[in-house]
Amino acid sequence: MDPIAQLVAKAGKRLGPKAVITDPKEIEPWVIDWRGRVHGESRAMLAPSSTEDVVEIVRLAAEYGVPLVPQGGNTGMAAGATPPGDGSALLVSMRRMNRIRSMRADDRLALAEAGVILATLHDAAHEAGMRFPLTLGARGSCTIGGLASTNAGGTQVLKFGTMRSLVAGVEAVLPDGSVHSGLSGLKKDNRGYSLDQLLIGAEGTLGVVTAVALRLVPAIAARAVAWAGVESPSKALDLLRFLEGRTSSIEGFELIPHASLDLVLKHVPNTRAPLSGEHAWNVLVEATTADGDTDIGAELEQLLAAALQQGMIGDAVLAASEGQAEAFWKLRDSISEAERADGQTLAHDISVAVADMPEFLTKASTKVERAFPGTVATGFGHLGDGNIHFHVRAGSHAAPDWYESEGADITRFVDDLVTAAGGSISAEHGIGQLKREEFARLAPPGRVHALRAIKQALDPLGIMNPGKLVP
Ligand SMILES: Cc1cc2nc3c(=O)[nH]c(=O)nc-3n(C[C@H](O)[C@H](O)[C@H](O)COP(=O)(O)OP(=O)(O)OC[C@H]3O[C@@H](n4cnc5c(N)ncnc54)[C@H](O)[C@@H]3O)c2cc1C
Repeated sequence: MDPIAQLVAKAGKRLGPKAVITDPKEIEPWVIDWRGRVHGESRAMLAPSSTEDVVEIVRLAAEYGVPLVPQGGNTGMAAGATPPGDGSALLVSMRRMNRIRSMRADDRLALAEAGVILATLHDAAHEAGMRFPLTLGARGSCTIGGLASTNAGGTQVLKFGTMRSLVAGVEAVLPDGSVHSGLSGLKKDNRGYSLDQLLIGAEGTLGVVTAVALRLVPAIAARAVAWAGVESPSKALDLLRFLEGRTSSIEGFELIPHASLDLVLKHVPNTRAPLSGEHAWNVLVEATTADGDTDIGAELEQLLAAALQQGMIGDAVLAASEGQAEAFWKLRDSISEAERADGQTLAHDISVAVADMPEFLTKASTKVERAFPGTVATGFGHLGDGNIHFHVRAGSHAAPDWYESEGADITRFVDDLVTAAGGSISAEHGIGQLKREEFARLAPPGRVHALRAIKQALDPLGIMNPGKLVP
């Protein structure tokens, strides 16, 4: 028997039949990345139900020299959870490890296993009168382990930071089969290097995350959502700074160009423009309060009225109901879907310094459209984090293979602009396998060297998600 067959047979005997899936039909959806661009292969999918199961799997992987690809909800945007196409690695699905071990309002901590779905955690925290503030479009499928392993961001980063600031500790099985137990939730712990922080954003290359201690915040008593029209990204940033200077309740601030709103209105049913006039840019603002006595709607309305008077915004409307607030968010969340319906799109998840983003956005769009005639370049998203989803759409006359034939050149062009501006070619989606080549091309040598040294020290056999992240 070859090593993979031997490993699978032993895992079946030791962990039971539920932990070893060999039916190709069951495996198939999980070997293709979320965007459907990368197709891998895995002869079996291992599905542990406990940390001990993961220890067993990692030990077997080391014994037989078979690489493992940890996977949560498979919603990652960089194909980090997609196994290689040659069938040399095995998928480790963490979805059966889905218990919330504890939810402590008094300590503001939740201990969730890696396979807990984000929406499930939201509900559980809500029931306990608390809130886990990180949220994103894939909340119904992505897992806590995946979120930690990609250091996910989302729409609430402005106030609460990325996953890194919301994780109080990590439990993980390291490549040698030992367990790192970092779930004590200590607020202060200065015993040298933080393994927890190293595992966050490691994309499964340093170990399998089995559980995470998560910081909770008080539940929201009320929220107010508004839509404003502005003439430029620079005015949008002025508005953000104006609001932040007067209230600490702003937690969402999303920039949406007119072209993206138009696409949503064209392709997504049951959508309509919040404002009657046309504005070159729009912002979606969300303010929240945990204090039931605060009239958050009135506060935001007053601030927007003052911004209007000062010429910062052209117009604004406050959502009159939860339904309308959701409708505003739907416009924002449907941009990628609308772009897909419209044709071919190249997505770049980039960041530059917040103050530099308005100028970067305007100049980079013009440069890309000039260098690649017929394309339309726009950016939308988390302006307050300096993180924009910079998308380049093929013009209506583009060839059907535009993505394959021109995509790499356009991406290199965009990545060069981002790097020249001192930014990052991956703000929140990670490197995975899709951005590895560009990361290797553009990352400072010192950074690459350190990454390789850490990987080599912790995973000398190279069994943890090889071919991902580390150039
Ligand atoms: C509609 C949509 C909207 C999104 N919006 C955002 C957004 O706003 N912000 C954002 O940051 N991301 C966003 N994403 C990307 C994605 O949801 C996140 O990257 C998420 O963290 C992935 O979680 P997952 O469980 O699906 O991980 P997977 O896709 O399964 O895995 C992602 C990476 O983590 C590793 N991994 C997964 N679980 C473990 C584990 N237990 N131990 C070790 N390694 C592990 C995998 O090997 C892989 O490298 C979005 C995705 C979609 C589909």
